Amino acid sequence: MPLVSMRQLLDEAAKGGYGVGAFNVNDMEQIQAIMGAAKETNSPVIIQASRGARQFAQDKYLFHLILAASELYPEIPIAMHQDHGNSFETCKSAIELGYTSVMMDGSLKADGKTPASFEENVEVTRKVVDFAHERGVTVEGEIGVLGGVEDGHGAGGSGLDHITDPDQAVEFAELTGVDALAIAIGTSHGAYKFTKKPDGSVLKMDVLIAIHKRLPNTHLVMHGSSSVPKDLQDIINHYGGKLKETWGVPVEEIQLGIRNGVRKINVDTDNRLAITGAIRKVLWESPEKFDPRDYMKPAREAMQKVVAQRMTQFGQAGHAGDYSPIAITEIAKGYADGTLTTQPLVAAK
Ligand SMILES: [Zn+2]
Repeated sequence: MPLVSMRQLLDEAAKGGYGVGAFNVNDMEQIQAIMGAAKETNSPVIIQASRGARQFAQDKYLFHLILAASELYPEIPIAMHQDHGNSFETCKSAIELGYTSVMMDGSLKADGKTPASFEENVEVTRKVVDFAHERGVTVEGEIGVLGGVEDGHGAGGSGLDHITDPDQAVEFAELTGVDALAIAIGTSHGAYKFTKKPDGSVLKMDVLIAIHKRLPNTHLVMHGSSSVPKDLQDIINHYGGKLKETWGVPVEEIQLGIRNGVRKINVDTDNRLAITGAIRKVLWESPEKFDPRDYMKPAREAMQKVVAQRMTQFGQAGHAGDYSPIAITEIAKGYADGTLTTQPLVAAK
């Protein structure tokens, strides 16, 4: 199956009332782990690459590995997404490579660190939307600023510094025509999200629900949504690691989000933890080993297990065969003739 539009994938998720995990990749084994999990659970998938990943793996390697996945698993719809594009040029280069979706994170300036003004965010996002939609490519925008830093991208600080304002979210969706909207509700990137199990004072699910009420048809995106499970932290620390105690976003909160318009959930840290724990275990228990396959295979299996679990928890499991993919060229026509709406439905306050 050719790579599919993320818009189609999310529209279908909205119809089915489920969420779709967006998993980050840097290498072949991570792609294999995701595809293994997608096959096992019969799930549509979003595979995403950050700027850091594109640099680490090189564009051509990464993109062709994903194409290989789409050839090997013709029954699984795959959207290939640029995570946290920092500028029009980054998004343009992803689109020209063949990505079917991009995130223009205009909440930060092009340095990927400094919060941008609302006007700057609207301007650059609108420019990406115009370029992308002409080519049938999906756009995710961000309003409000997430906490933490990952892969050199992020404003740092706590997730509570720039919580999304629901009125601004409405205005942003109207002015930009984005297909999906990332909002800041207190989550941050990386492993160290919360210093205690998050409650309503740090994870603002009420803000998410308020935004969904105003924008009932807009696909919301939760970033920094690894759950950072204790058992994965324990494996790392048991085999010589030194992670400080930390909490992620509980799966029940993500499921509450899914019941309130969240269609895309970004998960990276949990997979990193699973991989590192598995590698540490092999090297600790069998220090004589030196064949990378001896630890990469269990690492891949550990990641596949986490991904399959998330696919089941998010509800995308079982939905791979629900629909036939629409060619990107047809999606482009849909944007042009208005069959694919880019103006949000806005409910009164
Ligand atoms: Zn993110």
